Amino acid sequence: MKSPLQVILAGMNVDAQALDEAKTRLEYGNDFGALNTLSKLTPETISASYARISRDERPIPELRNIARKEVEDARKINKNVIFTMGHKSIAEHAFFNIDIMGLSRRAVEELERKRLQSYTEKSQRYITLKGDFVIPPEIISTPLEKEFVELIEKQNKFYKNNLNTLIAWHIKQNPEMASNPKKKDTLEGYGKEDARYALAMATQAQIARSKRTPKFSTRKVNRCWKCGRAHGYLRKYNMCRICFRELAERGEIPGITRSSW
Ligand SMILES: [Zn+2]
Repeated sequence: MKSPLQVILAGMNVDAQALDEAKTRLEYGNDFGALNTLSKLTPETISASYARISRDERPIPELRNIARKEVEDARKINKNVIFTMGHKSIAEHAFFNIDIMGLSRRAVEELERKRLQSYTEKSQRYITLKGDFVIPPEIISTPLEKEFVELIEKQNKFYKNNLNTLIAWHIKQNPEMASNPKKKDTLEGYGKEDARYALAMATQAQIARSKRTPKFSTRKVNRCWKCGRAHGYLRKYNMCRICFRELAERGEIPGITRSSW
């Protein structure tokens, strides 16, 4: 269902919610419960829950909660996904993490474009299409809102009504693959992919991000702290040339005055 945009602190190395829980227990004087929670803290629960994101329809915070309760299971998931299956990027999440939910696919593209942080995105397979799309705030409560909602619903309807036709087409084209039950799933995936072309960029998505040091130093990009501009960056002021000029003009940078003679 439609949910508001949420950015949740997932934790640095250990789960932030678990720390909150332990803190609350200590406030009530429940030492044993707090100790129990604290003794289970490990970065493994974050990476294990993120390993599940692309294969599980439940919201991200719920997955983290499950991993915290079943630490042994979390350990097994990590071992399997990272070492056996080789999805090593999951291990990058055993660091500083935030969950972002209820944002549009368009916004996700923008966040992932520069690879500023590691991320894992929930597969669009699990997006329910039951009203879970983002309405731009600019058009809410204007005559455009109704038109926008109708358009998105029409696209979602196209997806649902034509999914089976598209899957059937792929099955007909690839009779050999269709006879193999394992490969039949792949054909269904082809059909879903085709049908997804009809879906709007406003469809909601969920991602988990980690702020870790990039693998290669060339991937690091200096950005203006004020506006995020990546070009014309002045290291000395940690700012872009435009913001530097604006602040300097107003006399807000100590020691900087306009030259005039
Ligand atoms: Zn700037």
